[in-house]
Amino acid sequence: MQSLDILEFPDPRLRKVATPVENVTSEISEFADKLLYTMYQAIGIGLAATQVNFHKRIIAIDVSETKDNPLILINPVIVDSSGELETNEGCLSIPGFYEPVRRFEEISFKALDKMGKEYEIHTKGILAICVQHEIDHLEGKLFVDYVSSAKRQLIRKKLKKAKQNMA
Ligand code: ZN
Repeated sequence: MQSLDILEFPDPRLRKVATPVENVTSEISEFADKLLYTMYQAIGIGLAATQVNFHKRIIAIDVSETKDNPLILINPVIVDSSGELETNEGCLSIPGFYEPVRRFEEISFKALDKMGKEYEIHTKGILAICVQHEIDHLEGKLFVDYVSSAKRQLIRKKLKKAKQNMA
């Protein structure tokens, strides 16, 4: 399988709002497999379709240490939330940067799996944070939106420099 290209901040395509999946077709489940594969290759714990320039509401997640507990979320919706928690977040679209972000500590969410079957999970900690971070991507939102604009500009500048050094 081939990895999909991951868009990097400040690519404007990361700002597109994803539309719901109407039918979980075989194309959609194949895409979900590719998204998951790309996430594992990039050593991430979550990847949203938006990050690979596919603007449908699809997310791949695996927060397990052993990387054998994949989760596909199609049309995810948070149905309940409580508490607050601040952790340092990173993002495959903003490589090398980690910033504190405040999120709900506990959530319940509903989604379809890659076969189109609905499920609901109640969770807290890392999975709850990851789901909120990835749903943000589907809304065109990035974790750097939660930091000061001065810091966001600095990250933008440093990423640009890193890219120039690579070229
Ligand atoms: Zn991210």
